[in-house]
Amino acid sequence: MRKFKTESKKLLDLMINSIYTNREIFLRELISNASDAVDKLYFKSLTDSDVAINRADLAITVAFDKDARTVTVSDNGIGMTKDELDKNLGTIAHSDSFEFKAENAASEGETPADVDIIGQFGVGFYSAFMVGSKVRVVSRAYGSDEAWAWESDGIEGYTIEAAERAEHGTDVIVFLKENTDDERYDTYCSEYGLTDLIKRYSNYVRYPIQMELEKSRMKPKPEDAPEDYKPEFENYTAVETINSMIPIWKRKKSEVSQDEYNEFYKTDFHDYEDPARTISLHAEGALTYDALMFVPGHAPYDMYSKEYKKGLALYSSGVLIMEKCEELVPDYFNFMRGVVDSADLTLNISRETLQHNGQLKAIARRLEKKVKSDLADMRDNDREAYEKFFGEFGRTMKYGLYSSYGMAKDVLADLLLFYSAKQKKMITLDEYLADAPADADAIFFAAGDSVERLAQMPIVTTVLAKGYDVLLCNENVDEFCMMALGTYSNKDIVSTGEDGEASPKEFTVKNVGGEDLGLTTEEEKKEAEEATTENAELFDAMKDALGDKVEKVVVSTRLTDAPVVLTTEGAVSLQMAQMFKQNAVGSDETPDLHVIMEVNAKHPVFDTLRAAHAAGDADKVKTYTGILYDQAMLVEGLPIEDPLAFTQAVSALMK
Ligand code: ADP
Repeated sequence: MRKFKTESKKLLDLMINSIYTNREIFLRELISNASDAVDKLYFKSLTDSDVAINRADLAITVAFDKDARTVTVSDNGIGMTKDELDKNLGTIAHSDSFEFKAENAASEGETPADVDIIGQFGVGFYSAFMVGSKVRVVSRAYGSDEAWAWESDGIEGYTIEAAERAEHGTDVIVFLKENTDDERYDTYCSEYGLTDLIKRYSNYVRYPIQMELEKSRMKPKPEDAPEDYKPEFENYTAVETINSMIPIWKRKKSEVSQDEYNEFYKTDFHDYEDPARTISLHAEGALTYDALMFVPGHAPYDMYSKEYKKGLALYSSGVLIMEKCEELVPDYFNFMRGVVDSADLTLNISRETLQHNGQLKAIARRLEKKVKSDLADMRDNDREAYEKFFGEFGRTMKYGLYSSYGMAKDVLADLLLFYSAKQKKMITLDEYLADAPADADAIFFAAGDSVERLAQMPIVTTVLAKGYDVLLCNENVDEFCMMALGTYSNKDIVSTGEDGEASPKEFTVKNVGGEDLGLTTEEEKKEAEEATTENAELFDAMKDALGDKVEKVVVSTRLTDAPVVLTTEGAVSLQMAQMFKQNAVGSDETPDLHVIMEVNAKHPVFDTLRAAHAAGDADKVKTYTGILYDQAMLVEGLPIEDPLAFTQAVSALMK
């Protein structure tokens, strides 16, 4: 016997013993696998002239045996070799992510068993063990003349031995468990039970799902029937196709229920949760096509990994051409799932021609508009759902704005949400502007790693005190996104130019830690400049004490309570520099960082510094300056260079 990998064993345990109640989905999972296997063979036949199959022969069969208590799902797809049986069914494909999720769930106070794990990590096949005490898989790979049988009770391990199978394809035979008080496994070996499940979960599978059904018919009346002849019945069996196979996207929207869309989405895109939005589109004209798209309810676990592939499935007259056609969705909507079906596309369209395909570009543009308007509709009419959506995919859109160097601004900017320090909730840029004082000409934001900490930073509270809101940005991508944004305007707020023409007023997006916020009067500025000149010697000494860490030391115009604050000149902020440092290991790329230490001239600490300087105590000025710098870094949530030196300096002061 071959042993299951440890992770697989854990997962199997969970599945079999979990409180998961929706056991019936095992059939959907097995049928999806069968359909995938048939797809794979069909694909192969499109590209490989040695593979000669007739699409009309491709099918999935479901059968049951009441006496043996078995349910069998068969397909005449690509099949599996002995090695593939071992590899595919012996380990769980994405065990890493499973562990990750299970741990996360546990830390959030759920037991792993509460997590809906089925289908989430490609564990589809294993769901057979929720209803079966034993599963036997007999498979013959296309082009091979050997068949192999894999068998397991789902506990310790499995066996693989030689077997017989007349044709390529796979049979998955599930030996049903004994009934319990809670669960009647019998339902799964009944005609009614199975046809019901197939119709409910697998109606749109593209291949016929066939079952041998028990029928009864009236016997023909014999020629010599007596006068009092009573009609007689006989039983017979007939193979019928149970699923409708009409692609759901070809049906009128008004005739399809949301439940049906949800089931289709879950089955076809292997998700365990209903989609957040369903968007359908029927286009006619130069190019006729149907599109059915979904915004998933949650980000897939691999969304932010390199393995993640965006794209919509592309069909030509109901036949799958490509599972993930990247050209159909822009990167910033890469979370969209769905299908596009057009009779106007040729079947053997290749990847290279796709990239330059004008038809496809036209479809993509139209889809993008549709998605954008649907998201805007959700933003305006179902804010709660939108915030959840944004929590899942907002990062992707922000990243899209940044990586397009602002080119996608028109599409994305008004879809973004940021945390408002003033309103204490997520708001859009338009909401920021609607609430801004009449004289405002900027959108302020602060970037750091925690909203709570940002809300308390002196540079934020000063701006708030002046009546302007500050958007608190705590995601890595935020600052880059804001930079790419540069300015923002909407049609509601206009300004009249010198020529008397009204045009949308442009608001500059500004980091509150940046140079000129435009919030100080000329007088205040002048005052600060004078104070800086007056204390030039002290500030030179402080600058010397800090070396390269700061460009200069000046008197601040913006501080309220804090003794000093660090600000930056130019495009690179302290937070950004920190990100570069963390990410660019081994790279010699140093960002162009210009730090300014702003001193609060009204703070008692400043008097102390001045006194020390006047008394010629250079050591004291140096130590205090070092402490102030480190404090300011800590307030920003940034690491300090030498924590030991810092604590020693503070302790020395306390003595
Ligand atoms: P998933 O389908 O999400 O990859 P499963 O655990 O359901 O995960 O299946 C694991 C693998 O086993 C599949 O990826 C596929 O390669 C193989 N497999 C399962 N069922 C079949 C089948 N009926 N025919 C061919 N291969 C199959």
